[in-house]
Amino acid sequence: ALTAGIVGLPNVGKSTLFNAITKAGAEAANYPFCTIDPNVGIVEVPDIRLQKLTELVQPKKTVPTAFEFTDIAGIVKGASKGEGLGNKFLSHIRQVDAICHVVRCFASEDITHVSGKVDPIDDIETINLELILADLETVDKRIGRVEKLAKQKDKEAVIEFAVLSKLKEAFEVEKPARSIEFNEDQMKVVKGLHLLTSKPVLYVSNVNEDDIQDPEHNEYVQKVKEFAKGDQAEVIVVCAKIEEEMAELDDDEKAMFLEELGIDESGLDKLIRATYNLLGLATYFTAGVQEVRAWTFKKGMKAPQCAGIIHTDFERGFIRAETVSYEDLLAGGSMTAAREAGKVRLEGKDYLVQDGDVIHFRFNV
Ligand code: GDP
Repeated sequence: ALTAGIVGLPNVGKSTLFNAITKAGAEAANYPFCTIDPNVGIVEVPDIRLQKLTELVQPKKTVPTAFEFTDIAGIVKGASKGEGLGNKFLSHIRQVDAICHVVRCFASEDITHVSGKVDPIDDIETINLELILADLETVDKRIGRVEKLAKQKDKEAVIEFAVLSKLKEAFEVEKPARSIEFNEDQMKVVKGLHLLTSKPVLYVSNVNEDDIQDPEHNEYVQKVKEFAKGDQAEVIVVCAKIEEEMAELDDDEKAMFLEELGIDESGLDKLIRATYNLLGLATYFTAGVQEVRAWTFKKGMKAPQCAGIIHTDFERGFIRAETVSYEDLLAGGSMTAAREAGKVRLEGKDYLVQDGDVIHFRFNV
């Protein structure tokens, strides 16, 4: 399963946010593909479409989809003391598929900041520089050998050398790999390098309670947004402290709390949805009378692969995917109506599944 790692400097609110994630926690038993580990938090993906489908179909059971966050700081803290915390940190980041970078955007007398003052851009650059230097090392290890081969007109080496040179140039001016454009052939080389700075990034601005209603007034948040524009990254604003408190509430209490705060979505839900997108994930649904359920797939997956997420037999014996879009099903009011309106398609093995598809797989056993 894909996972997003939570990173950031000390005292920015990572543990507070991760606590909120695990407290809100999904029932692991529903998600056998998920990792059971104290540094992994499983979250359910909030999706209004699942509620609407439940109202429409009235199933016995409704199951949301879920994915994982990994608390990198937690892992690093637990690592054996003394030897290369830095390297451990980097090797854990290497294993995640996207990065949620928590940035301190709150001032507080009581909580010391590692570098003495609150300066979110400086904080971001401190961590980013570590990642860039590690990637530079990766490139430097290869470039000499590849250059020799490229001079001998080895076709693949010529491509790789061009890629490595471009990367090196960017790293030397402290730009991440994700800021560079590559063509398809070059992209294959880049993927093979497993760079840290080619992973997608989301900056999570952690603000004070009084700032979440109108985060634009917080000058730190503004700075982070400005920075993110040049860094191919998105920004969301949360108050980790509130999220930690809210994670203990039930749905009704949570709704009241949000109303009091004057916001319509919790920071945690925003974080979950933004990270889901960042990981390139999307949702399809199955909607039977027994169970209405959301399933996570990676954008670009075809129908048989998506069937395989439910069960390997579904992929092996795949015949067709009876498919209707969520909007068409809702507009029709029932499966029968959608079918009569000609909105239900029979898709074959090359069909690229779309976010919001409601699918019934037909397969041979
Ligand atoms: P970490 O070192 O990044 O894991 O940081 P922690 O989550 O331990 O937070 C450091 C301190 O900042 C703790 O005392 C938290 O209670 C506090 N803190 C976290 N988030 C917020 C916030 O949004 N506002 C304020 N005022 N304090 C916070």
